[in-house]
Amino acid sequence: MSDDSTVSLKGSCFCGALAYEVKGKPVLSAYCHCTNCQRLTGCPFIHSLHYLDANFSWAENVSEESYDRFIIPEKSWKSRLRCKVCGVAVAGYNIKTDRWSIWAPHLERDDSGKIKHYDLVKPTAHIFYETRLLDINDSVGKWVGYEGTSDKCA
Ligand SMILES: [Zn+2]
Ligand SMILES: [Zn+2]
Repeated sequence: MSDDSTVSLKGSCFCGALAYEVKGKPVLSAYCHCTNCQRLTGCPFIHSLHYLDANFSWAENVSEESYDRFIIPEKSWKSRLRCKVCGVAVAGYNIKTDRWSIWAPHLERDDSGKIKHYDLVKPTAHIFYETRLLDINDSVGKWVGYEGTSDKCA
């Protein structure tokens, strides 16, 4: 068995120009049904992962010139970083919590198409479930807000 804290995963935008690496276990891994994620991704929900700043790094070829920064209007402490070439937002940064937010579909896959080290990054909850666009019939817990700090949905 490998030591979780040393496992690293690579991710990138559609074209690959904006690439990053995350290390160890995420501090949050959940299917997010919030309206911000819905509007930013165009998807009904998205598998979202949070990492501490110390465990997130851009690839060597990435510089400030590689991305545009979109600051969420009502949440000035949160920004989304978007590839200048293909336009895909690959990461968000929260200056209040010093955490990075990434979306699992951008992570590298193994030969069978599964996200590498999936057990380490698999979702533990559905969050902001009340604003869902579809009902999910799985055994994963459903929360009004964040897992553990909000009410659980029925
Ligand atoms: Zn790109
Ligand atoms: Zn969200």
